[in-house]
Amino acid sequence: MNDKRQVEGTELDALFSPFFLGAYGENDEIFEKLILEFFRDHVYWRRNLHPQDTPPIPIQVLHSEGYLAFVDKMKTELHRLTADLKNSAPFFNPRYIGHMASDLLLPGLIAHLVSTLYNPNNVTEEAAPVTVRLELAAGRQLAAMMGFNTDPGQHPCAWGHLTSGGTVANYEGLWNLRAAKYYPLALRSVLPELSLDIEKLSRGRLSQDAPEWAWFNLDVDTVIRLREAVAEALQALPTEQRQALTQRIESGRVEHLGQVDFHAAWPALKPPVVLVPLTAHYSWKKAMKLMGFGSAQLVSVPVTDHMRMDPAALDRILGELHEQQRPVLAVVGVLGTTEYGTIDPIDDIVALRQKWRRQGLDFGIHVDAAWGGYMAALFRQPGGAMRHHDELKDQFRYFPSSDVYQAFAAIRHADTVTVDPHKLGYLPFGVGAFIARNREITALLGESAAYVFDEAGDNSDTDTLLRNLGRYILEGSKPGSMAAATYVTHRVFPLDHRHFGKLTEVTIHSTEYLFDRLQETADRLRGKARLVVPFEPDTNLICIAVNPEGNRSVPVMNRFCQGIYEQLRVTPDRAPQTREFFGSRTNVFHDALSPAARQTLVERLGLDPDSFRSGGKAEEGASDYVFLLRHTLMNPWLFSASEGLNYLDRYCRYLEKLILEQLPDA
Ligand SMILES: *Cc1c(COP(=O)(O)O)cnc(C)c1O
Repeated sequence: MNDKRQVEGTELDALFSPFFLGAYGENDEIFEKLILEFFRDHVYWRRNLHPQDTPPIPIQVLHSEGYLAFVDKMKTELHRLTADLKNSAPFFNPRYIGHMASDLLLPGLIAHLVSTLYNPNNVTEEAAPVTVRLELAAGRQLAAMMGFNTDPGQHPCAWGHLTSGGTVANYEGLWNLRAAKYYPLALRSVLPELSLDIEKLSRGRLSQDAPEWAWFNLDVDTVIRLREAVAEALQALPTEQRQALTQRIESGRVEHLGQVDFHAAWPALKPPVVLVPLTAHYSWKKAMKLMGFGSAQLVSVPVTDHMRMDPAALDRILGELHEQQRPVLAVVGVLGTTEYGTIDPIDDIVALRQKWRRQGLDFGIHVDAAWGGYMAALFRQPGGAMRHHDELKDQFRYFPSSDVYQAFAAIRHADTVTVDPHKLGYLPFGVGAFIARNREITALLGESAAYVFDEAGDNSDTDTLLRNLGRYILEGSKPGSMAAATYVTHRVFPLDHRHFGKLTEVTIHSTEYLFDRLQETADRLRGKARLVVPFEPDTNLICIAVNPEGNRSVPVMNRFCQGIYEQLRVTPDRAPQTREFFGSRTNVFHDALSPAARQTLVERLGLDPDSFRSGGKAEEGASDYVFLLRHTLMNPWLFSASEGLNYLDRYCRYLEKLILEQLPDA
């Protein structure tokens, strides 16, 4: 069975041959040829803009002293830079199995480098006549991969755009959901003057004198419907009255008043909380600080023994919040946690929203799929339909568990999603993406209110409006080259299981293979050290804990693992050539584990439970975390073999050797 998978892996190797520059620069010729070709093409474009003009840089200056001195200086500094860059982390190499990075897909890399020559600025179409459309197209490609409708003829229609990374896309999730949740209260005093039937518009969820709680607990689609009805009613009014009412709505919004004055105006409404799993990325804490909600309002939901958000705990917390009439702005599910690669039960979060919505507690759902988002390609047919679980299971040994499958199938019910092309999209850093299920939410964000369609030439459809990107997103000026890179990559590798999904497929094969090999390594080490994979991988990330046989102390074990990790890391003063393999590290904290999971972990590692405790300090012979080696298996060449051993076999051998060398009596 393993052999079969390895053969399959080798076939995939062949398929991937032209996709990357390669560990050895194998594809240097095609890369060089294309870069040169498109560079020359760019120069001709410059020359042909107004060829009759005299070139502003005179030819004779090229031989002047000052010119030559400048070239010297430039070369010297570039030389220094590239010399220093040799100490970079060698992401491109199959020996690199550390952080979430790998070799870059050639179409994206070339599109990025070539488009940079044109320097488009995607803040608005005027500064990027070509690449803004590519950005919106890339957004639709990603939205479709997540299962959202992207046909404007159907409602709701999703949209997506690119950000500098997952962190900003997460901020944007909160920014969008805040706009939607807080908006209805700003309408409250104006609605009677517009003679709108609020009960009908909210499908019975609201009446004019409903408490603040009810106004806050509306779903995104209802809020959007309200806004549209208000816009229409305003349109019908004489200009002066329309402007006065618009002004009143806008000045009652949280975006205008700020948290403090808004809540002072509605004292019966408690400030909202945001729920994330205990394993959430730290950008969520930053987002809460930045938005002024405060990190104290970020509630961590406990996780299961699989390091996934615990739906029972979520249900209980929602119950408590409902009891306290404490509003929930959003529940965040993570699709591929940064530390363990685990998948939160998005389907359960959606089901719990249904349940609590009926009790009057409603919230936005944001899926943080910065890491795992691109894996959705593996779940899609070329036409966009979701593949059957059985068909997927046939391809793998363990993947995908039915929990993982259900989570991917449920993304389409989320309101907003983060996904990072610069992670599993194999694109250069500087590109994340934000997706909203209902693109009309942008009407709540626009820097000038879009109540009046005939104002400032805004009498156009959403498609056209969205090309003024900067009005609806957090960032301003931004590289159109990233849009070009993302779009071209998705064109060359459509986001389905036959194309882009092949990359995900091989990384999962690698993970399953490594998982099995690590069990064998653990067997070989028996009696000398205990090697444990504490959480079975949901995706393509594996963590490993190692404890010398006989050691019972967690701090001693952590030091031991740190010693191993020292051999697997890059530092600014250590040439990567001096390393055999590259890994990363993480901790699993005492407080992140349930008592049962804690007990299992210390038992498997042969540790004394007393040395693993909350707030434990090394001086007291205890620790509040267990050190883990962390491996991200993105590189598609891990099955590539020299002398009969592939990189994963070789890593296991190397790890075994490192462990044996580190043992106290070695
Ligand atoms: C990486 C990551 C982020 C942050 O994304 P950046 O692109 O590093 O800003 C957020 N959430 C998760 C789950 C991640 O893995």
